Amino acid sequence: MKNIMLVAPPAAGKGTQAELITEKYHIPHISTGDILRDISKEDTEMGIYVRETLSSGNLVKDEITYELVKQRLEKDDCKNGFIIDGFPRNLEQAIHYDEILKSLGFEVGNVISIDIDRDVLEKRIVGRRICEDCGAIYNVNVLENTPKQESVCDECGGRLYQRSDDNIEAFNTRYQTYLDKTEPIIKHYEKQGVLKHVDGIGTIEEVFQRIDKIIGDES
Ligand code: AMP
Repeated sequence: MKNIMLVAPPAAGKGTQAELITEKYHIPHISTGDILRDISKEDTEMGIYVRETLSSGNLVKDEITYELVKQRLEKDDCKNGFIIDGFPRNLEQAIHYDEILKSLGFEVGNVISIDIDRDVLEKRIVGRRICEDCGAIYNVNVLENTPKQESVCDECGGRLYQRSDDNIEAFNTRYQTYLDKTEPIIKHYEKQGVLKHVDGIGTIEEVFQRIDKIIGDES
């Protein structure tokens, strides 16, 4: 199947949709945010730098992401397709990503932009909760996605936590960074003729149906 890239502002549901795609199509989900969150737990110079950058809502240095992405894409499980979210995050990264793909003999595949208004995102961001054990994503401000028991994962009973960058202040920075840096990559992929827009308003299932239609039609 074609590779998939999800592009969307913070809290648009990229991670949730990526999980659903992974479940249905059995392809790996590569999230630079998840990889960086793991690194941020390390007690090393790199861990501290990443931890501080993530909490502020700014982007980590491009060079760090290139190595992480390349190493991940070289793994065997990416040969039959993968879904990438959170990368590329700016035009330089997009140009570099195109080169990484070329060097590995991969195509960019479908680039899917999830379009959604800022006020909806702001409400979602403060409600997002994540399971520290299995990574399942919940949202206490989205009825269909509220955990049955507060702070406990429905799937595995793990403890739910709030990301350090899921607060209004960091959201404002992340959203502005998205407008300034990430939106230009939409044009970059539009020019390549691989970009598809999806309306991000609706239930998780409704948005998934829209994405799945693109994937299903083009696989
Ligand atoms: P996400 O989980 O995709 O919302 O990413 C969370 C945070 O990780 C971002 O706000 C950035 O600080 C960092 N991050 C994730 N992906 C990248 C990337 N491609 N380039 C730079 N920083 C990134």
